[in-house]
Amino acid sequence: MDIDSLIQKCAQKIHQAERIVFLTSAGMSADSNIPTFRDKEGYWSNFPPFKEKGLEAQDLASPWAFRNELPHAWAFYEWRRRNAHENQPHAGYTLINKWMAHKDAFIHTTNTDGYHLRSGCPPDKVKEVHGSMWRLQCLNVCSPDFWDEDAVPLCDLDHDTMKASNYPSCPHCGGIARPHILMFGDGEYTGHPEQEQNFYAFARRAVDLVVLVGSSGAVPTNDYLAREFMQDGAETLNINLDPSANAIVGTEYFLPLKGKEAFERLDEALQAL
Ligand SMILES: [Zn+2]
Repeated sequence: MDIDSLIQKCAQKIHQAERIVFLTSAGMSADSNIPTFRDKEGYWSNFPPFKEKGLEAQDLASPWAFRNELPHAWAFYEWRRRNAHENQPHAGYTLINKWMAHKDAFIHTTNTDGYHLRSGCPPDKVKEVHGSMWRLQCLNVCSPDFWDEDAVPLCDLDHDTMKASNYPSCPHCGGIARPHILMFGDGEYTGHPEQEQNFYAFARRAVDLVVLVGSSGAVPTNDYLAREFMQDGAETLNINLDPSANAIVGTEYFLPLKGKEAFERLDEALQAL
């Protein structure tokens, strides 16, 4: 099937579906210039001081780093908060929100940039499964609490050394605060019970359509979730530039496009129906 017919077919699926779940990952926000850090060379070129010390992204994104390399660990997140703040959610986010207004739909995202909420999606219709860089929790987990923190800048950041200072602190114990994000080797992330309950309530009933966007083989959380919905009868549209990203779901509705372009073309086709 050529791409135009495929878009047409996918638009019909969206039009017909009553219950849709959007599963979004790194490839969605990459179109908004949010780096994924899966590409090691790109990561090293952004952060030379980390290269000198051999600190990879997964080393810094860990409770270990917040205890042993605190200035670098906070610098990494401070840089990412500033990057996300300077960029904008692209048109694809707004289109998801527009389609959701006429459906019973939910967003399950592995992204931590908070772009779905920032683009105006209903807060009770999103689960940020890996947390959000716009919330903090206590590093020593003195309580299961987490809180919003949208100040930019938050820490002081020395770009030459990639070291941060003036860290945020926990309002309960006065200790260091950390991002409310599920990091690597992280048994201390406190989770988001409200988002989890909302998703659980949504997923209890069968879903007609899964829209899987920009997942990567490195973090296939959403691919396996898509497969669970498919086992209960859902069809899946898979939007991804990388054809190997269709290996887990194996859907015939695979759109080899970037997130933004795919949503724009689908919306155009939807309006013509
Ligand atoms: Zn505390």
